[in-house]
Amino acid sequence: MKFISTRGGNAVALEDAIMTGTAPDGGLYIPATLPAINQDKVPVDAPINEVARVIAEPYFAGSSLQDSLEAICDQAFNFPAPLRPISTNSDALSVLELFHGPTAAFKDFGARFLAATMSQIIQKRGDNGSPATIIVATSGDTGGAVAAAFHRQPGTRVVVLFPEGRVSPRQQHQLTCWGDNIISLAVRGEFDDCQRLVKSLFADAELSRAHNLCSANSINVGRLLPQSVYYAKSSLDYQAHHQKQSNYIVPTGNLGNAFACAWAKQMGFPVGELILATNANRTIPDYLESGEWQPRNSVSTLANAMDVGNPSNMERLRSLWGEADQLRKKIRSFSVSDAEISARIVTEFKQQGIAWCPHTATGFEVYRNLSATDRENAHWVIAATAHAAKFDSIVEPLIGETVEVPPELERLLEWPAKFETINADTDEIIQRL
Ligand SMILES: *Cc1c(COP(=O)(O)O)cnc(C)c1O
Repeated sequence: MKFISTRGGNAVALEDAIMTGTAPDGGLYIPATLPAINQDKVPVDAPINEVARVIAEPYFAGSSLQDSLEAICDQAFNFPAPLRPISTNSDALSVLELFHGPTAAFKDFGARFLAATMSQIIQKRGDNGSPATIIVATSGDTGGAVAAAFHRQPGTRVVVLFPEGRVSPRQQHQLTCWGDNIISLAVRGEFDDCQRLVKSLFADAELSRAHNLCSANSINVGRLLPQSVYYAKSSLDYQAHHQKQSNYIVPTGNLGNAFACAWAKQMGFPVGELILATNANRTIPDYLESGEWQPRNSVSTLANAMDVGNPSNMERLRSLWGEADQLRKKIRSFSVSDAEISARIVTEFKQQGIAWCPHTATGFEVYRNLSATDRENAHWVIAATAHAAKFDSIVEPLIGETVEVPPELERLLEWPAKFETINADTDEIIQRL
């Protein structure tokens, strides 16, 4: 399988698409053709690593990684993504729990798959002398998932840049507790400054070569592909038991996770409707309504991992499904305010006894506002993108109780944190490479 840019250009191999992250023309890599997966070959109710192998197979075919795919899937998918029923009436609702990985958010899937894949590529290339340096700017969740995934991976090291004082205490801990091959830097500035620093480091071709710089940002196709696996698996398993397809509501920021759902649908899995829930950052719902793509600065909300004003993966979604007038027939999108997020966390906790993270709460708010016709005889799935314990400082005061910390997170919280604080200046990073 070859990969092409959303803006055209030459097809490249899987290895190049993964190691370079972005296409030279500034576009995003997408598969040259989307394979229709023979669903009879996908095992039902099987462990997710086995499902991943079948789905990823056509994408890895013909690459140097073909024979490593099983090992990559076993390493990346070593925790489950259970579909948990919330109601089993005719208007069935389930939650797809994507937070059972080491940093308690869905980004663990993409980050772990990318780390396993990159590590194989590096080992096969055999350039033992200089490790690959993965630089990642994070507004909170990505950096932790990437650090966790690359921690002690041979031939790699990671530089994590996060905005000083702008991530939650537990997020910060997950960015800074690693040591070994992970360098954590708090930047005096905002997330946008961190991103700008990464861009200028990559723009320096000589530096890039000298340090073998690689990007692990969310537009890497190696992070998206594994995310389509849990949509494929959950829809297929549900259909096998209930002879019904599943509709999905995906809390959305940069649109990677929702694009992966669209990708699973396009591969032929029984995904019905797709609704994108956004927070107060309304670029996507506004686009569907007006037809004008108007990216803007992001605003801060309670669901901080979705604070994106210019969702990069819209370029992929448009290349898959077309412009606003066509997209409108395929997806809907609704924006949820901070007040609605807070109220929703409280109500769901009172009614169901479950605490959801602010991101997942946007999905619940959208679901609860659907019309009866939308819900009747349909199975809706809300993607639960993070565990509430990760956002304890927001959730606990709302529900008036402590959220139990999952064991993986508990373990990390005991590790000592270590980081340096730097100015938003590339020289300060270069000194530390
Ligand atoms: C990253 C993130 C999102 C947004 O996902 P995108 O792929 O950027 O749309 C939603 N919820 C949580 C918890 C996240 O970490």
